[in-house]
Amino acid sequence: MLQIHQFPCLSDNYGFLIHDPETGATAAIDTPDAEEILRQADAKGWRITDVWNTHWHPDHAGGNAAIKAETGATVTGPAEVERIGRAPDRIVDDGDVVKLGGIQARVLNVGGHTLGHIAFVFDEARVAFVGDALFALGCGRLFEGTPQQMWASLQKLAGLPDDTTLYCAHEYTQSNARFAIHIDPCNRDLQARIAEIDKLRAAGKPTVPMTLAAEKSTNPFLRAPQLKGAIMLPDASDWEVFADLRKRKDNFKG
Ligand code: ZN
Ligand code: FE
Repeated sequence: MLQIHQFPCLSDNYGFLIHDPETGATAAIDTPDAEEILRQADAKGWRITDVWNTHWHPDHAGGNAAIKAETGATVTGPAEVERIGRAPDRIVDDGDVVKLGGIQARVLNVGGHTLGHIAFVFDEARVAFVGDALFALGCGRLFEGTPQQMWASLQKLAGLPDDTTLYCAHEYTQSNARFAIHIDPCNRDLQARIAEIDKLRAAGKPTVPMTLAAEKSTNPFLRAPQLKGAIMLPDASDWEVFADLRKRKDNFKG
């Protein structure tokens, strides 16, 4: 059974350690803060055997070298991780299978935030690590990809089973919520979810992970097809509506 340990690091990132108790294999999903990740692994009594990167950004792959130097971990990730200094030991992309001890995960390319961005999907555990592709009530900024590409990536994630638990890499939820409710004010699921989110944050608790079902009913980016009327683009295609929503969010001063 897959064990997951989540902890905050840097200003608003989450670190994740995943562990297979059968074999002892332990992977850091991204490396925002090597020191903190090593400390957390120590505290759990887990030895890091692997690093799995979602994309090349420094707050995701910046700690690779330090963790590898300390533990000898094997780094698995998209080819673009080379931009941070060193190529992964194993380069993976859409359709590849990666293993944590005896537990299998599937790699999805979810490019858009960066071109090579990937997600790791544990089908059996119904868990996905989505990096900066999809956030609670938001999605990654389009630094490298096109809106069409990002829309297709989000559709891949939306196609997972509704009860999939999604682990995203940042606590951006309250800020995302301000945009979501601005665009989709009459959505009752969204209103109820924001009340929950505010309660969690007031108690110092994370809003990550989240379920895909909740995202599908409340995340404005996944709801692009339903929001055509709201943003007065009744005849636009889904990705065009997504593109417009993404641009609005980039310029939103909430
Ligand atoms: Zn990023
Ligand atoms: Fe990030």
